[in-house]
Amino acid sequence: MQERAAGGTLVRIKLIMSTATALSPEILAKYQPVIGLEVHVQLLTETKAFCGCINRYGGEPNTHVCPTCLGLPGALPVLNRKAVEFAVLAAKAIHCEIRETSIFARKNYFYPDSPKGYQISQFDKPIAENGWIDVPDASGASKRIGVTRLHMEEDAGKSVHDGFADSVSRTYIDLNRCGTPLVEIVSEPDLRTADEVFEYLTKLKEILLYTGVSDCNMEEGSLRCDANVSVMLKGAKEFGTKAEVKNVNSFRYIRAAVEYEIERQIGVIEDGGRVVQESRLWNNAEGRTYSMRSKEQAHDYRYFPEPDLPPLVVGAAWQAEILRELPELPEARRARMIAEYEISDQDAATLTATRAFADKFEVAAKRAKSPKRVAALLTSELTMRLRLAGLELEQSPVSMDGVVMAADLAESGELSSKMLKQLLDSCFEKNEDFPVVYEREKPQQISDTGAIEAMIDEVIAANPKQVEQYRGGKKTVSAFFVGQVMRLSKGQANPALLNELVVKKLDA
Ligand code: ADP
Ligand code: ZN
Ligand code: MG
Repeated sequence: MQERAAGGTLVRIKLIMSTATALSPEILAKYQPVIGLEVHVQLLTETKAFCGCINRYGGEPNTHVCPTCLGLPGALPVLNRKAVEFAVLAAKAIHCEIRETSIFARKNYFYPDSPKGYQISQFDKPIAENGWIDVPDASGASKRIGVTRLHMEEDAGKSVHDGFADSVSRTYIDLNRCGTPLVEIVSEPDLRTADEVFEYLTKLKEILLYTGVSDCNMEEGSLRCDANVSVMLKGAKEFGTKAEVKNVNSFRYIRAAVEYEIERQIGVIEDGGRVVQESRLWNNAEGRTYSMRSKEQAHDYRYFPEPDLPPLVVGAAWQAEILRELPELPEARRARMIAEYEISDQDAATLTATRAFADKFEVAAKRAKSPKRVAALLTSELTMRLRLAGLELEQSPVSMDGVVMAADLAESGELSSKMLKQLLDSCFEKNEDFPVVYEREKPQQISDTGAIEAMIDEVIAANPKQVEQYRGGKKTVSAFFVGQVMRLSKGQANPALLNELVVKKLDA
């Protein structure tokens, strides 16, 4: 329940208790949950949506403000071109159609963190509509989730309750965030489980990060999600009444909140009650949602076209220009990398987790003897050691040059996998790059001609078929013998000498 105090500085939210019921699997199985998500994403522009103030998280309260974002009378908004480009980029990345002429609208409501008394948003003519995101369902198959719309709007300021001696009785307002450009991405009610919700958000975040339009930092509120949840009897024709769970700040908590909400609503119906349309808050400590305000008390936003901004026209030429900035997106990149480098689905998924990681891999893969080996080294040996050391890839003691060198040495057989692991351990222990450690700790070389020849003889005797191939004219088979002897010598044979002796023996 919301109370608006005179003077407009204090808003109290009274939490209404509700009861959770433990339900049997049989009862749960009677119902079909339906979920739609509304995701707010802050755009990484230099300046705010409608003024020249810096768009940056944090800072001394109320220092990134000006007459426009403070809503002072007479101050006029000017639309940030970059915000439009980011909105279009994000929309294209999730397969939306761009509306050539979209309209900004005033969404009127009173709240202390929004000094204008309205939010500039888009209403019936949003900049983008009709997109989709593919997510894996429970069986691992791909399921297409519709995106109803993506529209542009501005963020509000923040109410601050903590950190003041008198904060029990007062709410402070920080307007630095006020006017930050946002896109809101609204999904169709196509999601059916809490896991699908998690997958959708993960996918959306990954795509947005690739496009570079947002840092999607949930702790700082760059990405915020409201989940609309309803349940109906399986086979029913109409959706049930939805409740909206607002502002949960991690994907894991959203999954938990949706799971809780599904069970709560089924419990209400099983008890002969009715689900009421309302907004609810997730309490993480208690693992439950609470009623925040019901629809009867909901705002009437009295939308009308923003008189201070002209229609936004993004014509074909501008769209094409923006589209050139659209990078290859994670899914397409995974598919291409699997084909191009012959790496596993699993490795491709790990390597494309971020655009930076994928970029690094591809640069290395192009220089290495075996991209596959670079992939394996990065996704297993290196990732494992980084995780244990609590380091990001950027902080790795082993550079990408080091990775390529290590992979090449392993590929040629000059380093056994055991030796490779030891050298990598050394890199992490001593915080040194691979070439340095290799020079110092590389395996002792065997340069004794007799010893190498003995090993070559052994390998030749064991592989008559390859000998025949070589002598039949397929000279490249000599590399096979070099590799085999290298392995046999545990990487210790002098490579130059080995090469020379192998050819001599085979030609003999
Ligand atoms: P409202 O007018 O209450 O804001 P919308 O139709 O705009 O509702 O939908 C808001 C979000 O709620 C969308 O993501 C939509 O997919 C989802 N949604 C709509 N109806 C339902 C429902 N019955 N159950 C679950 N989600 C729903
Ligand atoms: Zn400003
Ligand atoms: Mg709506």
